[in-house]
Amino acid sequence: MTTRTQATHFPPDRSDAFRASADAPLSRSQLTDLAIELRREITRLERSLASDGSSPELDSYRRALRRIDEGTYGVCIACGGEISFDRLQVMPATQWCVRCAR
Ligand SMILES: [Zn+2]
Repeated sequence: MTTRTQATHFPPDRSDAFRASADAPLSRSQLTDLAIELRREITRLERSLASDGSSPELDSYRRALRRIDEGTYGVCIACGGEISFDRLQVMPATQWCVRCAR
């Protein structure tokens, strides 16, 4: 008896649906929320380190906070596109949009 296995190849979802939200610039209140989150993380890390301590993670949060002041926060350093708010909420210090991070 011969069984024919049917290969079902689903093409990768290249839908541009997420692009629309990814291109939306961050609102002022979203930036404020993210700045609060970054400061909270910085405080937490500073407490867990020695008083003069530093760590790559702490540095990345501090740099992200500086980018908010400079107005360059939320922009992907690889493609120049906006990084979505959803992504920044999970990874507030990221410098790559979801497509470039892959
Ligand atoms: Zn990008």
